[in-house]
Amino acid sequence: MSQEKAPIPLGSNFIRAIVDKDLEQGVYASRKWAGTPGDATHQAAGQPDPAKIRTRFPPEPNGYLHIGHAKSIFLNFGLARDYNGVCHLRFDDTNPEKESQEYVDSITDSVKWLGFGWQNGGESNLYFASNYFDFMYRAAEALIENGHAYVDSQSAEEMRINRGTLTEAGKNSLWRERTVAENLALFREMRDGKHADGSLILRSKIDMASPNINLRDPAIYRVRRAHHHNTGDKWCIYPMYTFAHPIEDALEQITHSICTLEFEDQRPFYDWLLERLAEAGLLAHPLPKQYEFARLNLTYVVLSKRKLIQLVEEKHVSGWDDPRLPTLAGARRRGYVAEGFKLFTDRIGVSKADSWIDYSTFEDCMREVLNINAERRIAVLDPIKLVIDNYPVNSVEDCFAPNHPLKPELGKRIVPLTRELWIEREDFMEVPSKGYFRLTPEGMVRLRYGYVVKCTGCEKDANGNVTVVHCEYLPDTKSGTPGSDSVKVKGNIHWVSAQHAYECEVRLYDRLFKEAHPGQGQTEDGHDRDFLTDINPNSVTVITAQLEPSLKDAKAEDSFQFERHGYFVADKIDSVAGKPVFNRTVTLRDAWQK
Ligand code: ATP
Ligand code: MG
Repeated sequence: MSQEKAPIPLGSNFIRAIVDKDLEQGVYASRKWAGTPGDATHQAAGQPDPAKIRTRFPPEPNGYLHIGHAKSIFLNFGLARDYNGVCHLRFDDTNPEKESQEYVDSITDSVKWLGFGWQNGGESNLYFASNYFDFMYRAAEALIENGHAYVDSQSAEEMRINRGTLTEAGKNSLWRERTVAENLALFREMRDGKHADGSLILRSKIDMASPNINLRDPAIYRVRRAHHHNTGDKWCIYPMYTFAHPIEDALEQITHSICTLEFEDQRPFYDWLLERLAEAGLLAHPLPKQYEFARLNLTYVVLSKRKLIQLVEEKHVSGWDDPRLPTLAGARRRGYVAEGFKLFTDRIGVSKADSWIDYSTFEDCMREVLNINAERRIAVLDPIKLVIDNYPVNSVEDCFAPNHPLKPELGKRIVPLTRELWIEREDFMEVPSKGYFRLTPEGMVRLRYGYVVKCTGCEKDANGNVTVVHCEYLPDTKSGTPGSDSVKVKGNIHWVSAQHAYECEVRLYDRLFKEAHPGQGQTEDGHDRDFLTDINPNSVTVITAQLEPSLKDAKAEDSFQFERHGYFVADKIDSVAGKPVFNRTVTLRDAWQK
């Protein structure tokens, strides 16, 4: 895999080129749509489909969505939006295990948060694949009746051996020539619970010598006694994913079924199956077509559901919405914004070759959007006292700080100046290093939006740590007043009035993994490395910061730039009215660049 260097220009990708061509040639012009999913007869009674194309986003509700899914969401919903089409949100819930309502809810939330919906006119295009079980069963019987499927009694082990290899053809099962009547009777017995789990399996009858192993009589229905969250105990047989998925697409009149590259070898079966069902009169042409694109691989995160589940279940993180996780729920809590996701997916493009995208590309997109959208505020994250000894004890003076340097129309806010302030510990150095332009003994800096001050000394504790810095202000130098710049200084530091500051919990998040490719490679004794060993032990630091008073009014999910520090968001879960807590979304600059 190569590092992606030159992204494809915005808006043009190979999938769009295919859609353009299909529309130009009227490939899907004759389609009908009855308003709901259904078979050929159902759709034939409908209207010409008002949607020029139909795409779908088909998550399995067995985990939370992550940044990789966002790529697929923008692609599928984006295509539909741009081509006067419709994108369905379909829960691919044909696997009875591991699926739950919690996942369904989090997925619908995330899709909406990214700015998409499934309400089209009066129609709701939100579907559950498990509602198609009856049709899938009927389709399986139709395959049997037409000699395209058989019940196999081989054990799983025998099937595996007889499947052959990449260089060797497979062997026909001894049961391959069962009669239609026998196959139908056995399949119905499977359905009726007369056979143990795993004892019989329904297979398509294609070609055990096919060079594509996926065409060597792939399984289509298995016996599995499992409770299903939607259909309960109605079924003890369940369709295989590769059989179910094309049917789901066809019933929903999907035109362009877009999936990730690992399904490329399944495409011939996808087409084979739908053609057989069309021959049987269950589906009508034009049939959906599958197209594959490269999945998103992002450095410094894991995007495998299995690994994400492990991180949550073993409590390496606080939950699915932990701001360090690449889940969309976590990203949202972290303060990443939907518009940043859009910019990111536009920028990385859609290609047919796998590649790795550097996490900094993702962060840069968030920075770019937040830079435009987030108002500025002042925060002192590592506070130390600064006392202006010549400033009147009880005075409070208004200083004016612009809310956004790029948007003067957002105005200014008042920040109160008093005799005692909080400044950053790193903004004072008793023995300055070369090129240090902030406060030093006898040095001068400007208090941003306030006066120029001259340092007069500092106090230290028994260990020699500086506890208080002293200074005097120059009365004629207040920012925004005539002659204020008569005294030139090189440094400009931020501050918060100690009397007015909002003392607040701030979480400084960093990357969850310290390696670009968590778990990649082998240990010295030749074992696969465990991705957990690459967890960054310092991925979160909780501090008590001193914030400018206006931040007390921040609402959950409000984002700000804390000047000189980065972008921060009021936490969605732990903030209460009048007492928000903040999460660092991203620093102003990338600290990871080597
Ligand atoms: P599973 O391991 O459970 O199959 P999955 O990541 O494939 O996980 P799905 O719920 O099946 O999850 O994914 C829904 C859709 O999102 C699929 O169409 C899939 O191709 C797409 N998708 C998943 N991961 C990525 C990724 N990293 N980049 C782009 N698309 C992705
Ligand atoms: Mg999947």
